[in-house]
Amino acid sequence: MKRIFKLGVMGGTFNPIHLGHLVAAETIRDEFKLDEVLFVPSGKPPHKDNDEIASPEHRWMMTLLATASNEFFSASAIEIERGGESYTRDTLLQLREIYGKDTEMFFITGADAIVEISTWHKTEDLPKLAKFIAASRPGYKLAWEKIDPRFRKSTYLVEVPALAISSTEIRRRVREGKTIKYLVPEAVEKYIYKNHLYQPKT
Ligand code: NAP
Repeated sequence: MKRIFKLGVMGGTFNPIHLGHLVAAETIRDEFKLDEVLFVPSGKPPHKDNDEIASPEHRWMMTLLATASNEFFSASAIEIERGGESYTRDTLLQLREIYGKDTEMFFITGADAIVEISTWHKTEDLPKLAKFIAASRPGYKLAWEKIDPRFRKSTYLVEVPALAISSTEIRRRVREGKTIKYLVPEAVEKYIYKNHLYQPKT
């Protein structure tokens, strides 16, 4: 019997990528027996107008640094290179072209983002393109009633204790001159300071 390749597509702004994202991806890879997890930083995240977002190039570099040491992880700049708003549907269609129709895709992102899925761009065929995995911190109650019924069958909730770490908290700590050691990979920590990311505006 032909074996189906199982691809995790880890979507997020990654502003910056942190250990919570990495633990979530590794836990889900293991639980869902994924062959690969592809990290896809958003070029221009839809639903966001935030001057605190580091440039796509910086977020891409940090994603590469963070994922390099895991043999099952890889990173793709398709959303950054495509330009414009980063719609998940366009990304999944593009990945289906690259990986082939026999690849089963699992789109992984934060539970708060998944709750909003009905408001995403052209949602009609999303459930046919991928299954959706909502990664949440412990105790989070996914508002299933808010999720369009078409998505409920193909959406999974996975609790990840390490998601107590958040990008917002890391940016705040950098702004306030507090340590971020052990919250992000060491290479990402160094990259943030070297490039003066998330510093207070003078
Ligand atoms: P967000 O609003 O920045 O994040 C919502 C929550 O989810 C935050 O708590 C965030 O924590 C967490 N999160 C984000 N990505 C995660 C991941 N991969 N694993 C675990 N937790 C994660 O969400 P966003 O980054 O803008 O969007 C998430 C994904 O959904 C992106 O790939 C985006 O392109 C896609 N999306 C698509 C559409 C569309 O197609 N129209 C619309 C909205 C979102 P941190 O801040 O710590 O990451």
